[in-house]
Amino acid sequence: MKLSDGIETLKGIGTKKKEALNSNGIITVQDLIYLLPVSYEDRRSVYDIRSGVQDKPVLIEAHVKAVRGTYNIKRKRTPVVIIINDGKDDCEVLFFNSGYLKKLFKVGVKYSFFGKVTEQNGKFKILHPKFAVLNSKEDIRGIIPVYPSIKGISQPELRRLQKEISVIYDDMAEWIPENIVKEYRLSSIRYALENIHFAKDAKKTLAAKFRIVFEEFFALEIGLMYIRNNNLLSSKGASFSCDKGDEYAKNLPFKLTDDQLKAWADIKADISSDYRMNRLLQGDVGSGKTVIAQMAMLSAASCGWQSVIMAPTELLARQHLKNFAAGLNKYGIKVGLLVSAMKKSEKDKLISEIENGKVDIVIATHAVLQDNIKFNRLGLVITDEQHRFGVEQRKILSSKAEEANILVMTATPIPRTLAVIVYGDLDISQIKSLPKGRKPVHTTALNRDARNEAYDFMHEEIRKGRQAYIVAPLIEDSDSIDAISATSLYEEVRAKFRDFKVALLHGAMKQDYKDEVMKSFSNGEIDILVSTVVIEVGIDVSNATVMIIESAERFGLAQLHQLRGRVGRGIDASHCFLISDSGGDVSTSRIEIMCKSNDGFEIAEKDLDLRGPGEIFGHRQHGLPEIHSISLLKNIDVLEQATKAAKTTIKSDKSLSANENKGILEKVSDMFGNEVSIDL
Ligand code: ADP
Ligand code: MG
Repeated sequence: MKLSDGIETLKGIGTKKKEALNSNGIITVQDLIYLLPVSYEDRRSVYDIRSGVQDKPVLIEAHVKAVRGTYNIKRKRTPVVIIINDGKDDCEVLFFNSGYLKKLFKVGVKYSFFGKVTEQNGKFKILHPKFAVLNSKEDIRGIIPVYPSIKGISQPELRRLQKEISVIYDDMAEWIPENIVKEYRLSSIRYALENIHFAKDAKKTLAAKFRIVFEEFFALEIGLMYIRNNNLLSSKGASFSCDKGDEYAKNLPFKLTDDQLKAWADIKADISSDYRMNRLLQGDVGSGKTVIAQMAMLSAASCGWQSVIMAPTELLARQHLKNFAAGLNKYGIKVGLLVSAMKKSEKDKLISEIENGKVDIVIATHAVLQDNIKFNRLGLVITDEQHRFGVEQRKILSSKAEEANILVMTATPIPRTLAVIVYGDLDISQIKSLPKGRKPVHTTALNRDARNEAYDFMHEEIRKGRQAYIVAPLIEDSDSIDAISATSLYEEVRAKFRDFKVALLHGAMKQDYKDEVMKSFSNGEIDILVSTVVIEVGIDVSNATVMIIESAERFGLAQLHQLRGRVGRGIDASHCFLISDSGGDVSTSRIEIMCKSNDGFEIAEKDLDLRGPGEIFGHRQHGLPEIHSISLLKNIDVLEQATKAAKTTIKSDKSLSANENKGILEKVSDMFGNEVSIDL
């Protein structure tokens, strides 16, 4: 037997069972080995019939006194009834639709039964227990693993298969280097598998599980780091004092939130040491990430280091420029804006100023990635709305200076567990709380036929001088998809609100035009913006107080949350309307979650619950391997340990070519395939 053998080579696996297993992702013997129990049934202690009346199934040992069918002819379902006795009490054991059992039980023979004992009027009963002749080959006693249910394959059969393939444990080589095995006290593979599939002792099984979960996370993390191989891990980085950043914080018109202070402390520790910062800053829209970025950039500038912040659109870059200019003016710092659409002469001038160090802070779009942009002394690189950029772009930007500290920011918070996986090579800071006084966006779910309520409300708000967004899932009407399109919605809204300025925005428009429309909207020249999801990111118009989302069932939770984050950015209460046809359970739960919560992290976790990590980490989507054995959210501490171990290993051997790391390399190519490109 080999690990790579197909499961059809095992005893008793014909075409049907092969298909059943295959459709659950179990193709090879190795896959079957890693089909781990979801729980265990403890069938060690033997109970009396009388004391066995509990709210869980128990193990009883008793002999058969009599076997009979029932005498109730009127009843269609006639159970087989076995009367058993444990030396003290009688008990009826009932089996429905199992006439053949009548012949199986032998009077006078002692059996073990595992089932739930009930008592009614002093009479004991057990319904459909598991059973076996005491001390026979098919013993049902002990700690019994319960495997994920696979249609067409019974639990005893799965257990039998695990027994059959357990002979191969001895051939499974240890692939984790010895120093890590020692440091994290990992049990051997053999020990782990034995104590998981054939558990005898809770403590040992726990140690075994730790090894298996650790192993899977470790492989995943080190695989990601190896594949990215993006020189971010080189340890030397620019170091500078953060006094000016602290001073800046003191002079702000508001107090930083605790989470902001914590994030700043993390960043400060990184950039004031000569270790190269490589950090992800996660925080909901409006949680105040930009201020933190400003503090870091100001610190760099005050110590003679240049810094750059890259935003996904020109509009966002301009927004940053405005904020930075307002905050940094008095420090005598030179800020430059670098975008694609600039006059050539202006751009050339800026490029040379960047190159000879005359500009301290560069605010840019992806235009900054071009080869001809060179910095004089780049000490800090920030990417805003990281999820909008590929790993490649992040890499190019950070390679502009070997020693530059890296900060990536994202407003699409994901649970820490996932963040650790997706951004395996980054340290993570989170801003969970919103600034004081920020009001949650009031969210209402409406049926399609009640959508006028939303529009009436919007009308009121616009009359008061506020602005509104309306979002639809499609650009144009489609025959095959039953959802509203932005284009037809635009016509409808324009006809209905003739006194107001209405504009349309969608992804098929030219970038320049989109920027133009967004600019007019932020200047207040447009009252109602009808749009597709293109307004999703970063845009900050505090006068906008209404968000209407049409065909809301078409959007994922993260998207709904991002869209809603476009409002609620000012001092006035904001409102979001989710209009949908009841589109099934999942979409209904999504909308319910949205109405209940304004917290991006909480929403992301619920999203994970609803979709499962399998979907989030689908092969196609991320090029990540399936994670099977692990309930992610339950094992975060193991994940953190495995990540740490992976980091140490890859730091000392980037190419995984050292002898002791050969096993890792094999495992990684096994897991990820030989050619993977990851684009997160
Ligand atoms: P993000 O980039 O995380 O979406 P911003 O940094 O743009 O959020 O912050 C949104 C707004 O909140 C800005 O106008 C900012 O000045 C303000 N702000 C940031 N931190 C605080 C705070 N601690 N208290 C009050 N207002 C804050
Ligand atoms: Mg921002």
